[in-house]
Amino acid sequence: MAEILVLVDHADGAVRKPALELLTLARRIGEPSAVVLGAGEAAASIAATAGEYGAATVYVADGAEFTEQLVVPKVDALTQLAKEKGAAAVLVTSSGEGKEIAARVALRLGSGLITDAVELEAGENGPVATQSVFAASYQVRSTVTHGVPVITVKPNSAAPEASSAAGTVENVTVSFTGNAAKVVARTPRVSTGRPELTESAIVVSGGRGVGAAEGFAVVEKLADSLGAAVGASRAAVDAGWYPHSNQVGQTGKQVSPQLYVAAGISGAIQHRAGMQTSKTIVAVNKDAEAPIFDLVDYGVVGDLFEVLPQLTDEIGAR
Ligand SMILES: Cc1cc2nc3c(=O)[nH]c(=O)nc-3n(C[C@H](O)[C@H](O)[C@H](O)COP(=O)(O)OP(=O)(O)OC[C@H]3O[C@@H](n4cnc5c(N)ncnc54)[C@H](O)[C@@H]3O)c2cc1C
Repeated sequence: MAEILVLVDHADGAVRKPALELLTLARRIGEPSAVVLGAGEAAASIAATAGEYGAATVYVADGAEFTEQLVVPKVDALTQLAKEKGAAAVLVTSSGEGKEIAARVALRLGSGLITDAVELEAGENGPVATQSVFAASYQVRSTVTHGVPVITVKPNSAAPEASSAAGTVENVTVSFTGNAAKVVARTPRVSTGRPELTESAIVVSGGRGVGAAEGFAVVEKLADSLGAAVGASRAAVDAGWYPHSNQVGQTGKQVSPQLYVAAGISGAIQHRAGMQTSKTIVAVNKDAEAPIFDLVDYGVVGDLFEVLPQLTDEIGAR
């Protein structure tokens, strides 16, 4: 069966959820092999998890290079494995780092690259990827026609499904090409305790309608009651009410959660470009004519300072 290499994204010794989604999708197009890089002592437990989610083989490579340098060592490892194993495709999570790795691997392999896929299926000529483009106005289905397809997949594109496989660990020695940018310092990000915006299954976003930085308190309270990440429109970010890292949209982050709640957001095309692939969209806006209502599954016409606290209380009461 065609071997599909899946780069397993991990943090703090645990597999990140998007990697489990990739393993689930990989089973639709072939036999998944997990690639675990720079995990140190956590490699064994990460490999075991990959096996539980369908990896027949887990390639494990360690080395200071993976943590001391930026993406190039991972590119070296994936390129080497894709060539040595005759992989039928390479799957990487659609994060900033993931897309850079994928682009470099595709270049080195002389292959075609598809980014931000939201669906994968087997086709006669290799994997068929679906992308959602032009602010999710169109769905595009593409196949790579040259070389080993390298595909990045957006988080939340599939629900992770466990499927026990051998998970046979194969240690790999990577020949590093060097020449990579080196990490000279690390500053831990101050944790809000909330899930990562692009990975979260639920996102609650606030826009100019929250009125001030303090207005985000009602958005955060609703997010916390749902275990959600907090997003913001560019208008709210530009006003200095919320950090740029939380901006959703064309020039912000692309999110595709199961549930997206837009509070006090009008629904400009540039905002839609970052959230329109969300599975269920709910908007709270006091203007019944706001364009966001054209794309919602559920819309509440009302003042967010009245609606959100009631919703938070109701969720807390259940
Ligand atoms: C090149 C470019 C890139 C851009 N990239 C992005 C991007 O990445 N992300 C992004 O979001 N935007 C982006 N924008 C900006 C975008 O065009 C809009 O200006 C922006 O999304 C508007 O943000 P908003 O909906 O919060 O504000 P507004 O459009 O001002 O809407 C505020 C809404 O809140 C409602 N409201 C007010 N008070 C309340 C209340 N108390 N209760 C309920 N509702 C209330 C109003 O009825 C209104 O609909 C970009 C623009 C450009 C030109």
